[in-house]
Amino acid sequence: MKIALTYRFCPRCCRAVPEASEEDYCPNDGAMLLNACPACQAPIASPYSCFCVKCGCDFASSVPRGGERDQN
Ligand SMILES: [Zn+2]
Ligand SMILES: [Zn+2]
Repeated sequence: MKIALTYRFCPRCCRAVPEASEEDYCPNDGAMLLNACPACQAPIASPYSCFCVKCGCDFASSVPRGGERDQN
């Protein structure tokens, strides 16, 4: 039996956690984590994804930014 491991991804700091972690928001910056591509709903199968492998959507630019603010 094959279990697909998917990830939740923070579009703000590009942090990924396993779906099993059940985190809904990034502990670094409070951004809502994506558990699938916002454009085509493809699951995020790699913790290093910054773009959707199915439609090429840029995860980071898909989420509205709440004010321009430097992270560092
Ligand atoms: Zn984050
Ligand atoms: Zn997609």
